[in-house]
Parts: sequence; structure tokens; C-alpha cells
Amino acid sequence: MSVIKFTPGTQPRTTRQVRIGHVLVGGSAPIVVQSMTNTDTADIASTVKQVAELYQAGSELVRVTVNTLEAAKAVPVIREKLSAQGIDVPLIGDFHFNGHKLLTQVPECAQALGKLRINPGNVGRGDKRDEQFGTLIEIACKYDKPVRIGVNWGSLDQELAARMMDENAKSSEPADAKDIMFKAMIASALQSAKRAEELGLPGDHIILSCKMSGVQDLIAVYRDLASQSNYALHLGLTEAGMGSKGIVASTAALAVLLQEGIGNTIRVSLTPEPGESRTKEVIVAQEILQTMGLRAFTPMVTACPGCGRTTSTVFQELALKIQTWLRGQMPGWRGVYPGVEDMKVAVMGCVVNGPGESKHANIGISLPGTGEVPVAPVYVDGKKTVTLKGDRIAEEFQVIVNDYVQRTYGTGKS
Ligand code: SF4
Repeated sequence: MSVIKFTPGTQPRTTRQVRIGHVLVGGSAPIVVQSMTNTDTADIASTVKQVAELYQAGSELVRVTVNTLEAAKAVPVIREKLSAQGIDVPLIGDFHFNGHKLLTQVPECAQALGKLRINPGNVGRGDKRDEQFGTLIEIACKYDKPVRIGVNWGSLDQELAARMMDENAKSSEPADAKDIMFKAMIASALQSAKRAEELGLPGDHIILSCKMSGVQDLIAVYRDLASQSNYALHLGLTEAGMGSKGIVASTAALAVLLQEGIGNTIRVSLTPEPGESRTKEVIVAQEILQTMGLRAFTPMVTACPGCGRTTSTVFQELALKIQTWLRGQMPGWRGVYPGVEDMKVAVMGCVVNGPGESKHANIGISLPGTGEVPVAPVYVDGKKTVTLKGDRIAEEFQVIVNDYVQRTYGTGKS
């Protein structure tokens, strides 16, 4: 995967760099894509299978729920089975309520994880809170594991929020209640990070997040959070939702912040539609970064929307086929054809914009629109090389793309 030099918007903010297994987050590292399983972690076979799928799709970190003793005991076995398959993706353990107990009872779980995720709102209540938080940090220090202090709008530390609300109510000019809740989110993250450092966890072992479910709320909170600290930040819209709503909301929120240089690792929290693969969240995260010009993961297909000039479905079928085929090739191409992820392919519906757009791509094909001569000129690096016709245009175009990849990116020619 190549990293495109950051040029859009403002320059990235300098944060501390955190190492999670072999993956670097923050500092000068590229923005990292992560995902989360939705299997029962105690179900080892299903979890291994899903982590492998997420990894194959390009997830660079995978989070798993650790909510029971069985789940904690399963983590080292899952790690072992993944490593045996050559899958070295770091696993992140997601802990709520009983993390201190699980990690104390199953230290192998902590050892097998690349990072611990702690939610300060769900660590414990009253006097127990400090003690249980302390236990978690002690374990992180003992096994040299970084920690994400992940505050969530839906599980904000209620004692802290109530205290800040009371103080606000007593002030001569009380602020808006929503602003106080935002400040409480940030205070929860920063105070927990400060406490973790006091307990011995180095600052370069801490990542912060303050996830919200509203786009404007997330932008406001992260701008504030980024201005107040230099911890590496995990970015994501929580409970983004399903289908196009989840994708659009996540993209709208993340794009604004990424453009401002805020965010070192991202997750797109999509609710899968029934039967939909969990890997969709990885693909969307990659596409956000790639379409913004921040990273490149897989060759991109430029396709026109089609119009009254494309009355048959040939054009849509070819665009879909090429896009799916290119993504499917990437696990094999990644190590063999460096730079192939930057390749641009155009699939255009007619002569109006077809030749022009195809010339801008590395390889482009301009299909015949309604009423045009049934031929499809192919352009390679801006020059027309061949004209395809007949029923096998898709297959022949695929062969041309494959040849181009081998010729251009083979043996590190990019
Ligand atoms: S390139 Fe042709 S088919 Fe595609 S949208 Fe433009 S006019 Fe329509």
C-alpha cells in the first residue's frame, strides 16, 4: 500500500507515535484502517474466520470484544491460529465493566493482544473506578501494551458529567448544556490519559477517542480534543447506521476532520445489512482515504454514471466486473506489483466523455453508446491501442489490464 504525501487542506497535526505490534499509529505514520468483529469471541473458529476476512480486505488492526472469561481465554488461541495462517494483524481487546478482572484472571489474553481499549465511562463506579482503572493500566504497563482510552457519547462517565453540569449551573454565565457534555467527553479522555501517565503508562502508549453519533458533534469534539493534546487519535463516527446512511454520515464526518489533519487511525462503524459482509466497513474506510488522496489501497475505477446514451446494462456490468476483479486481485498483487494500488482505470459509457476520461486514466475503455458503432476503443497511458468488439469485451479488457499491471508494476517498476 502506498502512502500519498499529504497535500490537501492543512498539514497533519503532529502527534505522538504509538506502536501496536508492527503497526505504527500517529506521528509521521500513514492513517491506519481498523475494523471490529461481530462474532462471539468465545467462538474461536468464527472469530478467526472473520478476522482473516477483515485482514484480507485490508484491515490493519482488528478489535474483538472481550466480555467474558471464555472470550478472554479464547483470545490467545485466536492469536495463535491467525499467526499459524501467516496473519499478523494486531488484535485489540475491547473491555467494558469487567476488563480488570478478565485480564487479571487471564494474563495470556493481555499478552496476545496488540492493544487494550478501555472506556472510562464503563470502568467502574465510585471508589471502585480508580482502583479498576489502575489495575487495567498496571496490566498494560506490565505487558508493554498501548491503550486506547475510548470515550463514547453513549457511555460517558456520568459522575464526571454530573459534576461539570453542577459547576456550570452555579456559574454566573452558564454555557449550553450540550457544550458542557462535549467538554465532559474531552475531560474524561484527557483526565484518564493523565492518570494513566501518572500510573506509569508512557504517553506514546496512549491513543484517545471521543466518539459521537452526530456528524457536527463529532467534528466539534475532535477539533477541540486535537487542539488540547498531542496524543494519537482514533477517529470514527459511532453508531453510524446502515447502508448508504452509515457510509454518508461517516464520510461526511471523517472527511472534514481528516482534511484538517485530525485522526491517525479510523474505523467506519457500519451496521451490516442482513447477509452483508463485515468487510464493507474496511472497504469504505479505505475508499474514504483513497478518494481524499491520503493513501492508496487498490486501483480505482472511474466510471461515468450512465445516461440515456447507455440503454443496455453492458456498461454497468463491465464497470462492476472490473472494479470487483481489481479488488479481488489485490491480496495477490500487493506484494508482487508495488505501486499497482495507484493505477487508475476508466470505464466509460459513450463517446461524449469516454475517450477524454480514458486518456486521463492508466487504462480506459470507452464503450459504445446507443446508436454508436458497436466498438470499444481502449486507451493505455493516454494512447489508443486497440479497439474491442463482440461479446467478449469484458474478458479481453481484463487481459489488457492484467498485461499492463505485469509490464508496469512487475519487479518494482513503478
Ligand atoms: S460518458 Fe456518455 S454515457 Fe456516460 S454519462 Fe456521459 S454522456 Fe452518458
